[in-house]
Amino acid sequence: MNSSVVVPVIDVQSNNFKELWPAMVLAFKTSSFIALDTELSGLGARKALLAESIEDRYKAICHAARTRSVLSLGLACYKKLDDKADRTYLVQVYNLTLLCAEEYVIEPQSVQFLVQHGFDFNKQYAQGVPYDKGNDKGGEPQGVTMRTLFVELLRANKPLVLHNGLIDLIFLYQCFYTQLPEKLGTFTADLSEMFPAGVYDTKYTTEYELRFTASYLEYAYKKCKLDNSRSITAAQDGPHVFLEFCNYTGRMQSYVDYRPCTDSLGRDGPLNICIQFSAYGWCPSGSSCPMSHDTDLIIRQDEKSKDDKRQKRKRRKKKKAAKQEGEEEDDETPRDKKAHMEDEDKDGEEKEERKDDEKVQEKLAPHEEMLSGEASAAEPQTELQTEPQKIESNATQTQEATPDERNQGPKASERKAEGGTHRAGFDAFMTGYIFAFATIRNAGESDSWIPACANKLYLSGKSVPLHVTKSTFSKSSRAHVTKMEHIWRKRFPKADGNA
Ligand SMILES: [Zn+2]
Repeated sequence: MNSSVVVPVIDVQSNNFKELWPAMVLAFKTSSFIALDTELSGLGARKALLAESIEDRYKAICHAARTRSVLSLGLACYKKLDDKADRTYLVQVYNLTLLCAEEYVIEPQSVQFLVQHGFDFNKQYAQGVPYDKGNDKGGEPQGVTMRTLFVELLRANKPLVLHNGLIDLIFLYQCFYTQLPEKLGTFTADLSEMFPAGVYDTKYTTEYELRFTASYLEYAYKKCKLDNSRSITAAQDGPHVFLEFCNYTGRMQSYVDYRPCTDSLGRDGPLNICIQFSAYGWCPSGSSCPMSHDTDLIIRQDEKSKDDKRQKRKRRKKKKAAKQEGEEEDDETPRDKKAHMEDEDKDGEEKEERKDDEKVQEKLAPHEEMLSGEASAAEPQTELQTEPQKIESNATQTQEATPDERNQGPKASERKAEGGTHRAGFDAFMTGYIFAFATIRNAGESDSWIPACANKLYLSGKSVPLHVTKSTFSKSSRAHVTKMEHIWRKRFPKADGNA
């Protein structure tokens, strides 16, 4: 046995979209929350996307959403099983391959990056589920389409969970809902009505609630998974997260890919960690980087350096105490305080350093800085697509890592698998897991989600989040109000011509 979690990802494309529709809609309706991720054809100029003014950033992302497209959509439906112990979730993961029916810009860098990460453009053009962007083309959307699936997502009225989700939300709105409004305030007002059960951003949660050293998706997921399994092993009080997956049989099984997620914590060796990757979750050299991109090793190193700091602090305090006793100093220990503060500052500085350079890479890694490296010289990744592993039991299967099962690290050739196929689906799965874990950390025994993180979207380089709310000064857009009337079949008040 090993500690790998094998996640079944259901591959949705045009030839099985109709067939899988009822299962997807049922999964939406019965879930406790839905995690989502997208893969995009590009984002355009990076500078504008990180503009100082948030309103300018919004405009830049809107421009990207109008000219680019969503290539794939990952949905992970987490359903809490109330008859099971702790926090046991039944998880269904869908990866939808999509094809925008209108012309759109696709950036060569993005193509290169996506191909290196296992994205299959042949499959996209041959089997992508088609969709039209912007406003509904005449009347309300009907039939089994991507746009009506989005309507079903809204109708399900569940908390929506994303990781660094602002860009995803703007693209979703433009691609599957309606034309984006001009003003950010209108957009957030619309969002708050589209998702009244709340929008959660696990990057914000990771930074401000979990307070991990890094907050990129894979790091946050693996750290949550590790802490959860440690807590189980130590038989600590309080709830833990357990996952179950459906056992897909017959025809369904042919649509499922079993995506392994291995731990490598048993492996020893020099910690020749790539500094760039450890901070941001990407590196210009990609798979040709000579340093380690192993997130498990990075987490272990971070934990070790935290322990070292704690030790140092302790030692210093002891020294100080001894000195005080000896010299009978009775001052207010300013030196100790200062030392402590310096330490704190250093932690802070380190974190700042890591964040300082943070770009939108988490949404779409390839940009100027990345491509200045040897990304193009990267080896082909086909060998990294691991053989599918079958889930054998007839019943649903609970998977959780146990500590003595950590000895089977991935083979050297697998270590640099940065993404692999079905990235959107698997990323949505990881996002949901972080949320499930953060919820138990935050709420303890109570059943609520994380109130402190509700409707707050992470903003790169900003210490404050973007609030998904309808402010006194903002009104909803007219197009949105019309959509809401269709979706809920009732009149919505307060539209204006703002959009
Ligand atoms: Zn590297």
